[in-house]
Amino acid sequence: MTADRHHLFAGNWKMHGLRVDGIALAKGLVERGRAAPQAAFEMVVCPPATLVRAVAEAVAGSALAVGGQDCHPDESGAHTGDVSAAMLRDAGCAFVIVGHSERRSDHGETDELVRAKAAAAHGAGLIAIVCIGEIEAERDRGQTIEVVSRQLEGSLPRGASAENTVIAYEPVWAIGTGRTPTAEEIAAVHGEIRARLARLVAGAERVRILYGGSVNPGNSAGILALDDVDGALVGGASLKVDDFWAIAQSCP
Ligand code: PEP
Repeated sequence: MTADRHHLFAGNWKMHGLRVDGIALAKGLVERGRAAPQAAFEMVVCPPATLVRAVAEAVAGSALAVGGQDCHPDESGAHTGDVSAAMLRDAGCAFVIVGHSERRSDHGETDELVRAKAAAAHGAGLIAIVCIGEIEAERDRGQTIEVVSRQLEGSLPRGASAENTVIAYEPVWAIGTGRTPTAEEIAAVHGEIRARLARLVAGAERVRILYGGSVNPGNSAGILALDDVDGALVGGASLKVDDFWAIAQSCP
């Protein structure tokens, strides 16, 4: 991390929580933030679509941002069950996650679709958190850098910049498993992403690259201390105020 990249902590709530849970969680984080006004990091929570509006209202006026977990590439249309980037923005979002591995695996999302979603996010004025990461078999075959590079190049739309795009490196085998790559492995992948960004994005040195996959209060300090790790995308541990806050507090 360098002085001109503020750490970002994104909480991916996935398909968890009813209104009462989401509001309590968001308000708990707002309270922590109020008690630590000098905090030099940013936080965003990404609730299920049903909770976005209620959570945005609960955190209004605070530094806590709200994001969607996915968006459709079109602005509107006959797409039953989908939500557009403009709708997320209208409901109070500033961010949206695109290309999460669970979307790629559960819904067959390709890099091309992820790129279209990221472009839609930018068009609606949202910051796209673009997720990339290898599956375990690819890692075992020594293909991590190849896979991550291909996903990065395929998933970033024209016009991606440090202002409208965040990259999240999430090894799929580390998500929700309690397993993480070694510090050396994380540093090597993030370094490669940074190098490749230089060919894809103006101002690549300012793009934030998050690590995601089983981050918890016990391992976050070591991960966040690595070069080119500018924050974390957190699933399970983001559902507990104490844990998510402790992770953010552990940034150098
Ligand atoms: C995620 O879903 O993006 C994630 C990183 O999950 P977890 O922190 O639970 O591994």
